[in-house]
Amino acid sequence: MHRPTHLHQAQTDSFDLCVIGGGATGAGVALDAALRGLRVCLIEREDFAAQTSSKSTKLIHGGVRYLEQAFKKLDWEQFKLVRKGLWERKYLLQNAPHLSHPLALLTPCASWFERFYFGTGLKLYDALAGRHNLQPSRQLSTTEALARIPTLRKKNLRGAVLYYDGQLDDARFALALVKTAARHGASVLNHASAISFGKTDDGRLVSLRVQDDLSGAVFTVKSRLFVNATGPFADGIRLLANPALSPRMRVSKGVHLILPEKILDSETALLVPKTSDGRVIFLIPWQGHTLVGTTDTEAQLHADPALQREEITYLLDYVRQYLDAEVSETDVQAGFAGLRPLLQAAPDADTKALVRDHEVEVDATSGLVSIMGGKWTTYRLMAQDTVDECLRELGETHRPAQTENQALTGAEGYTPDGWNALTTNFALSAVIARHLWKKYGTEAFDVVKIAQAQPELSERLAAGHPFIAAEVVFVLRHEMALTLPDVLARRLGLEWLDWQAAESALPLVTSLMAKGLKWSEAETRQAEAEYRARLEALRTSARLAPLTQQKSTA
Ligand SMILES: Cc1cc2nc3c(=O)[nH]c(=O)nc-3n(C[C@H](O)[C@H](O)[C@H](O)COP(=O)(O)OP(=O)(O)OC[C@H]3O[C@@H](n4cnc5c(N)ncnc54)[C@H](O)[C@@H]3O)c2cc1C
Repeated sequence: MHRPTHLHQAQTDSFDLCVIGGGATGAGVALDAALRGLRVCLIEREDFAAQTSSKSTKLIHGGVRYLEQAFKKLDWEQFKLVRKGLWERKYLLQNAPHLSHPLALLTPCASWFERFYFGTGLKLYDALAGRHNLQPSRQLSTTEALARIPTLRKKNLRGAVLYYDGQLDDARFALALVKTAARHGASVLNHASAISFGKTDDGRLVSLRVQDDLSGAVFTVKSRLFVNATGPFADGIRLLANPALSPRMRVSKGVHLILPEKILDSETALLVPKTSDGRVIFLIPWQGHTLVGTTDTEAQLHADPALQREEITYLLDYVRQYLDAEVSETDVQAGFAGLRPLLQAAPDADTKALVRDHEVEVDATSGLVSIMGGKWTTYRLMAQDTVDECLRELGETHRPAQTENQALTGAEGYTPDGWNALTTNFALSAVIARHLWKKYGTEAFDVVKIAQAQPELSERLAAGHPFIAAEVVFVLRHEMALTLPDVLARRLGLEWLDWQAAESALPLVTSLMAKGLKWSEAETRQAEAEYRARLEALRTSARLAPLTQQKSTA
């Protein structure tokens, strides 16, 4: 993806759809529309997946918690919602197998009744998945439970239940959607903000003013329809289109911690079934670490929510309650916070409750199509419903959706053990080969070719992590990475695993970026200092000790 080409297209072409927001939803809409032959432009204010779509628990699920609620209230709509998620799970696992896989999850039980209760509920979960079920759930004895998660707290343990869902690399999955959309003709642009609409006299949208945040230049995108896929920020765009609309979004903050792998020490995730505030918490094996989350607190709309000390304390309390592991704040290697885009019922609806599903709204005055609510797992369905609605608006309903069986970039020709070819043909270590294979799928060969042409790019970016310098060059050339957070967070994900490792990698990554993007010395120094300050701000907000600093580049 060559940004100047995409920028030129956005400035000069006329589109059928202009999608605002490059998270899971907007990227999904862009891909669906491009596959149906529409001319599409995708505009993202920060970077692809910079907001909620990279801050999730990374589960592809129907939601066992929602199932319990459905059961208790005998709520048929809720059952349907769980089933929808379970059916969508199949497409995510199938279309990007390098970025997703089935995950075993275990819930410890403190009594025989709990085992029976959870076990029965999970059989219903299996039944709702029907032919799309991954593996049947089952009850485990205490010995079997401990064999799966040896660090599980033994006190009061009366066995467990085991079930299966999916896990995805959320940020790279969103990027794969963007790349696939671009491959099918969509013009895609990150670091470009939608700032105002051009309208006809009767308020119909005809164009969008966009600011290129890299150059500061403002330009106009012409399109027949505009789709608002800005997640938690949806009301801002709705009001730009039509100030008479009532707000629909409520946001809630959720955080995650990253702890060392040895804390969970298992390939099976742990589901804490009930917290004091009636939630569930997950401890999940994640890229050689333990991911713990999440919380659910009412929040203000904020582009950069951060992990706070109280949230660390809250989550670590549950780690200690459920695992026989010594764990303290000093074990926190990284963390991240996101905002759930929760949708409230329309003011004229019977109930003012939160809508649990997604909704496509077409504003009759402006013609803006807003896709709101939903979850990562259902992005494909949300995109399909949105494009169906757009086609109705455009009077072109004859184009059926194509996304159910659309392999994403990196998935073509992918086999789970294909990484072996990287070790045999390119003499890579198994750890690095597996890492590249999971991050880039079959595009891992292109990463490795860069390292082959310049052997110094085989160097690891940080000790104890499998990331190599060639990845930086690859994402600069092919994935529209333009800033240090684009590379260290959204493309590689190192920042979300280990803040200290991101700090250690900073001088090398900065110098590679300076070379690749032709930064001046002053720009290089500024970029590095800003990124270092960003890492420190994350530690300060979590009240963790400062990082050990490396020598700077410039
Ligand atoms: C803590 C947490 C855990 C979660 N866990 C799961 C899970 O395990 N499984 C699951 O299925 N779902 C999960 N979810 C839900 C899921 O992550 C979200 O539903 C999904 O990511 C929302 O995607 P989105 O594209 O709608 O929003 P976003 O990802 O927020 O994307 C909206 C984009 O719009 C951009 N934007 C905003 N304003 C403008 C503008 N003016 N111009 C251009 N662009 C703009 C933003 O920069 C942003 O990138 C979780 C959510 C949270 C918060």
